[in-house]
Amino acid sequence: MSNNMTVTFLGTTSGGGPTETRNCSSLVVDALGNSSLWMVDCAEGTVRQFEGQPYRPAYPRLRASQVSKIFITHMHADHCMGTLTFLRTVLGIPKPKLPGTTPNPPNSLPPRVEIFGPRGIRRMLRMLWHMTHTHSEHPYVVHELLFPGEQPSVAADVQPGEDGQEAAVDDMDVRGESECVGQDYSCDEAGFWRGIVDISPGAGHHWGAVVDAGPILHRDPCIGYVVREIPRTPLTADSPTPRKLVILGDTYDPSPLIPLIHADPPDTAVLPELDPFGNGVPARVPVTLLVHEATDAYLPPRVDPNQRTGRNRTKESVDAKTRERGHSTPGMAGAFARAIAAERLVLNHIGARFPAPNMNYQGAQARFRQECMREIERQAAEGWSQNRSAQPQAAWDYLSVELPPNRPPQREMEHVDEAGRGQERIPEYEDAAYGGDRKRRATSSVGGDGRRNGHGHASGSGGGHTQWSSGSRRGYGSHAASAGSASRYEDKRPRKDWRERDR
Ligand SMILES: [Zn+2]
Ligand SMILES: [Zn+2]
Repeated sequence: MSNNMTVTFLGTTSGGGPTETRNCSSLVVDALGNSSLWMVDCAEGTVRQFEGQPYRPAYPRLRASQVSKIFITHMHADHCMGTLTFLRTVLGIPKPKLPGTTPNPPNSLPPRVEIFGPRGIRRMLRMLWHMTHTHSEHPYVVHELLFPGEQPSVAADVQPGEDGQEAAVDDMDVRGESECVGQDYSCDEAGFWRGIVDISPGAGHHWGAVVDAGPILHRDPCIGYVVREIPRTPLTADSPTPRKLVILGDTYDPSPLIPLIHADPPDTAVLPELDPFGNGVPARVPVTLLVHEATDAYLPPRVDPNQRTGRNRTKESVDAKTRERGHSTPGMAGAFARAIAAERLVLNHIGARFPAPNMNYQGAQARFRQECMREIERQAAEGWSQNRSAQPQAAWDYLSVELPPNRPPQREMEHVDEAGRGQERIPEYEDAAYGGDRKRRATSSVGGDGRRNGHGHASGSGGGHTQWSSGSRRGYGSHAASAGSASRYEDKRPRKDWRERDR
C-alpha cells in the first residue's frame, strides 16, 4: 500500500485517434491508495491498453479487474465506446448452470463496477448489452448525472411486461440481470453534482475520497471531475493539506467548474489560506494536479519547418479553429492552471497530428517528435505561472504521475540553525516530488505565526472529523432523482452561472 496517489494515462490522443503511438482517452487513478482504480473515460481499446503495458520496474502492473468505478466525461465516441468491452472483460463469464438449479441473477450481488456519466450512458450500455447478447457473472450499475431540465436516458429500473401482455416498453430498455438499479443525480442549484462518491477513511486504505462533478463547456454536454482526499485524522491548522485532483473532459472553457474546485469541505477552514504561486489566487486546498486537454497547437517553423503537423496553419487560425470545435490549445490549458492555482498540470487528448515520442524511432524523427512535445509543454508553461516549480507535462500512453502526500507545514521551532537557535520564518514546506524546490507561501493575511488568525478550529476539532458522507447515496435500491447535498459545503465565493455562459 503506497502513500502516493498515482494517475496513469492509458490513452492520450483526441478523437482523431487512435494513432500508432496513442490510444483515445482513458486514465486510471489510484485514489484511495489501495488496489482499486478509478477510471476516467474508457475509449475503445482501453482493455488492450491494460494488456499492452510496457514493463515498468517502478510500477506494479495494472489490471483491468482493479477498476471499481468509471467516470465518463461526455458521450463522444472517443471517450465512452470501450465501456461494453471493458465490462465484458472484468465482470466475468457466468458459471455453467447445474441441472435442476436456478442460480441467483448476477444483480442479486452488489455491483462490481459503478459507472457515472452524462445522460445517455445508461441507455447506450443497456442497448449494447442486449444487442450483443452479453451475460456476466458479476453485475454493474450506471448512474446518470443530469444537467438542468434533463430526464434520465432510460429509467434506472425498467421491468419487462407481464406474461401474456404486450410489453409496454422496448425490450432494449428493460434492465437486464447484469445491471443493478442505478441512481439519477440531478445537479444542484449551482449546476454541480456533489458527493457522487463519498468514501470515508477506513480499513484497507490510508485515506478517504470524495468525488464531485460539474459542467465544463464543450460542443456537447461535458463534465469535469474533482477528486478530494479525505484525511484519516481530523484536520487541524498543522495538518498537511489534503490532495485534490481536477480531471477534465474535452473543453474550450472549463471556468464553470471553478467554484466547485474551490468549494472544499467545511473542515478545511482550519487550514491557512495559501497563495501557491503568489499570483493572487488563494486557496486552502490547492489543486495538486490538473488534467486538461490540449487538442491542437500551432507549432512555429522553428520546431516544424516542413509543416509536418499541418500545412498553411497560423497561430490565429489554429487558436480559432480549436476553440470553434470546442477544444483547447496548450496555452488555454496553462491559463486555466493559472486561474485555479494548480500545482501540477498534465495535458492529454493531444491531437492525432502529434505522435508521441516512441522507442521505435531514432535519430531525426525521434528528435522531431520530442521537440513537438517540448513545444506543446512550453506553450502551456507560458500561460501558467512564472512561480511554479513543476513543468507542464504532455502525457503519453502509460505515463504515471505520482502524487505524494503533502507534508505538514513546519513549525517555527523546527527551523533551527547550526547553533541550535530557533529561527523566525514564514512556514513553508518542500515537496521532494518536485525536486525539493516547491515552496508554499502563506498569503499576506496570515499572521506572524503563519496561521490565519480568527478562524477557530471550527469544524475539525473536538475529535469529530466533519462527517459529510452521504449514506443515502450508497444504496442501490433507489432511482429517485437526488437533489445533491450542497448544504455540506460552504462555498461563499461568488458564482458565475454557467447556464448563462452556455447560451
Ligand atoms: Zn474527445
Ligand atoms: Zn469531445
